[in-house]
Amino acid sequence: MIQSTFNDCKLSSELLKAINLLNFMSPTRVQEQVIPAVLGQKDIIVKSQTGSGKTAAFAIPICDLVDWDENKPQALVLTPTRELAVQVREDVFNLGRFKRLKVAAVYGKYPFHVQEKELKQKTHVVVGTPGRLIDHIERGTLETSNIKYLVIDEADEMLNMGFVEQIKTIVESLPQERVTILLSATMPQDINLLCRRIMNNPIRVEIEEQNPAAERIAQERYQVNQTDKMQLLRDLTMVENPDSCMIFCNTKQTVDEVYAELVTLNYSCEKLHGGMEQRDRLGVMKEFKQGIFRYLCATDVAARGLDIEDISLVINYDIPHECESYVHRIGRTGRVNKLGKAMTFVTENETKFLEDIHDYIGKEILLKERPDEETVRQSKQEFMAKIKTLPEIKASKGAQLSTEIMKIHVNAGKKTKMRAVDIVGTLCSLQGITAADIGIINILDVSTFVEILNDKGEQVLQALQNTPIKGRLRKVSKAER
Ligand code: AMP
Repeated sequence: MIQSTFNDCKLSSELLKAINLLNFMSPTRVQEQVIPAVLGQKDIIVKSQTGSGKTAAFAIPICDLVDWDENKPQALVLTPTRELAVQVREDVFNLGRFKRLKVAAVYGKYPFHVQEKELKQKTHVVVGTPGRLIDHIERGTLETSNIKYLVIDEADEMLNMGFVEQIKTIVESLPQERVTILLSATMPQDINLLCRRIMNNPIRVEIEEQNPAAERIAQERYQVNQTDKMQLLRDLTMVENPDSCMIFCNTKQTVDEVYAELVTLNYSCEKLHGGMEQRDRLGVMKEFKQGIFRYLCATDVAARGLDIEDISLVINYDIPHECESYVHRIGRTGRVNKLGKAMTFVTENETKFLEDIHDYIGKEILLKERPDEETVRQSKQEFMAKIKTLPEIKASKGAQLSTEIMKIHVNAGKKTKMRAVDIVGTLCSLQGITAADIGIINILDVSTFVEILNDKGEQVLQALQNTPIKGRLRKVSKAER
């Protein structure tokens, strides 16, 4: 079979450049189907797992199609969780970087006025969770009259979380003439009903995983008493000594307990659950992605869709009560065709959940004996050595994109009537600088941030020390990222 390339997709050079710097060599199977369909303005229903490259599948054509000159949002992406909204925003932003696209994320438990301010500026794509999106639409802070692309991501999870009415409310506020893309790992009947209502003659694509998670991930289970789980966790982590590990519990309370215990034992550990402040949740996710700590203790809020590379081990400290949740949890390891390992603790009266999972995944999870004392003892030295070393910090996905972009800060903003055209005019008057070297311009009340592309940041920074902007010399410095 001849491998297709992104060049076959007839994308703009700005998109191809971002794709290249993100190291996407060729389109994934879902991208091969979705990119041409969306470029051809077709509605599309996509059944595929996370980890298949589905975010880029809709983000690439949308970034390519949106009109930079238009100030009102042109694409709206709905996600079930706030963490996913932030992650999708980042993916869209990275892909649209060289087209200078502005992408906003709006979600609950975050100051409304901050999002309102951001939405007042030029925004091409908005990613958000349903409740907060409705708030913005109803208060008139999110203009939907120009939305041409609607994406419903993780649709099955949206419906599980009871968002169906909210989705309908949002859709009613959008123009009828639009492209709608719905993505889901499973296709229960209520999703089909929703599709019939909100889509127009959609194409359907179903991407069977070539190497499904269930085969890629070594799955084991351990029979254990509730009171003995902590000791088993200690023994297994000592023997496995993973570089990064997620420990899933069924309740916030258990997460808190396990986390407290592991911290006492000096594990490099953080926790994540719905009872935490949103800022803390996002901070923890970001640091885990960077590999700043090794163990993340979490409820199912961290099970869906989140894309964290190289998690070597997933432990279900509590067996999940829903089969889908099992698949999502173990799917945090073995991402994008890598190998992974998942261990599940099962207590005596949880056999029913185990049997359901076996039926669901179509095979039995291997029953293992807990490691004996001698094995644990032998592993101790190496484990203690790793505990004392800091993990290697991973570069963020967009790091490669940022190396040739410098963000500069100009000490003037809206209050001194600074406009994007003033900045562009000055920059284009500098020798060797053209509009193609200018990235996103963000004008705040008393500050302006400008991205300088193509490795020309230093040159611009120097030149602006002696070049007036809007008639006056301004204080210009390199911005903190
Ligand atoms: P997703 O299914 O959207 O969660 O994506 C899973 C991961 O695949 C993400 O880390 C993407 O950055 C990565 N990815 C997406 N498209 C490609 C591609 N064409 N080649 C390589 N990696 C990709």
